[in-house]
Amino acid sequence: MPAETRLGEFELIAALFAPLAAPGAFGLTDDAAVLSPPGGGDVVMTKDMMVAGVHFLEEDPPDLIARKLLRVNLSDLAAMGARPFGYALGLSLPPGIDDAWLREFAAGLAADQREFDVLLLGGDTTSTPGPLTLSLTAFGAAATGRVLRRTGASLGDAVFVSGTIGDAALGLLALRGEVDDPGNYLAGRYRLPQPRIALGAALTDTASAGLDVSDGLVADLGHLCRASGVGAEIDVERIPLSDAARAIIDADPEKIDLILGGGDDYELVFTVPPKRIGHIEREASSLGVPVTRIGRIVAGEGVHVLDTSGREIMPRLSGYRHR
Ligand code: ADP
Ligand code: MG
Repeated sequence: MPAETRLGEFELIAALFAPLAAPGAFGLTDDAAVLSPPGGGDVVMTKDMMVAGVHFLEEDPPDLIARKLLRVNLSDLAAMGARPFGYALGLSLPPGIDDAWLREFAAGLAADQREFDVLLLGGDTTSTPGPLTLSLTAFGAAATGRVLRRTGASLGDAVFVSGTIGDAALGLLALRGEVDDPGNYLAGRYRLPQPRIALGAALTDTASAGLDVSDGLVADLGHLCRASGVGAEIDVERIPLSDAARAIIDADPEKIDLILGGGDDYELVFTVPPKRIGHIEREASSLGVPVTRIGRIVAGEGVHVLDTSGREIMPRLSGYRHR
């Protein structure tokens, strides 16, 4: 596309982003936005960045890139038990990004704004000689002081996870053609995470601690254990698997390492005091979100994965770290 037909920075903001804006963002025509969290209370904030070549490929569908960028942030809010209401967007665009790409990107945001009831509050747009770099800051509302922290797990608490674990890591293998993925189920789980917002909000009253699974089940539960000053045991056969993941593990049991250590599932892992287990199971079922008890909080430190005979398994992947 010739350079003259490209939208300039201000046209881009007016054409593609202003229609997505919250009332407090003044149509993205002023210098900053005013935040009014619905229902008052605390504002909960999180930011995640995504870099082409590190978190996604520049040739991935732009609408899916946008939706994943938004959803990984909404998952952090869900993990705090907050209800998302808005977000700010940072774009560093290399020359190869054209208007068609940006339109699809904005359409992806529009779709998820409707799905998750959030609005755009503002952002910044720059050009860059480096890779396409995206940053999103999401804002949520919580009743004052009522967020779900990583601290607070106690001896004897049950360890739960939502949904199924390991699908995203296997989905990445499927996208590389390394495993079968009938119906592209696993690839879909990798590309379009499902933030557990309603469950997270319900957990603020019942769970003792929680976080979302972005680095990998063992690594993230390890973060919770460190923050709470406890250890955890999980029973490998209780970890909930999708049918697609189960078929892969049955054919190649070594891939259990990806279930334990692969990231990007964006499910919640949380701990529940024994007397509140029945309550949380009923609440999750009324929300239509599957939750599974996979283990317990123990004295000591670290996460111990046990096989069916109670022997410890040593997972070979310990979670993704950028540095
Ligand atoms: P300044 O130069 O003062 O930072 P900008 O021109 O960057 O102002 O921003 C003008 C308005 O457009 C602001 O409300 C800002 O939040 C909004 N904006 C700029 N880039 C984006 C973007 N990528 N997404 C959403 N809003 C944006
Ligand atoms: Mg600016």
